[in-house]
Amino acid sequence: MSDKKSNNKNNKKKRYNNNGDDEFDPKFRKMRKKVCTMCANKELVLDYKNYDQMKKFVNEKGKILPRRATGACAKHQREITQAVKRARHIAILPYTQG
Ligand SMILES: [Zn+2]
Repeated sequence: MSDKKSNNKNNKKKRYNNNGDDEFDPKFRKMRKKVCTMCANKELVLDYKNYDQMKKFVNEKGKILPRRATGACAKHQREITQAVKRARHIAILPYTQG
């Protein structure tokens, strides 16, 4: 009558991930080396009055993107942050949106 429960435990199939597909392993996801665009291109100067340049550093809510999204180095990320804040102050970028 109640043998089913104990039976279910043993019936569970083990899931084998290794069916010839070794490509996917979350631990070793392909990491492309990101190079800071402003370090790579020395002529590129951050201009807080340039809306087209500034809008790349904020998301649709108006928040400043993190380094993992902008790809900037620590030094340039600080400059981006400062520039976005200046752009907000002179109403080129919104403080918040949506
Ligand atoms: Zn940089």
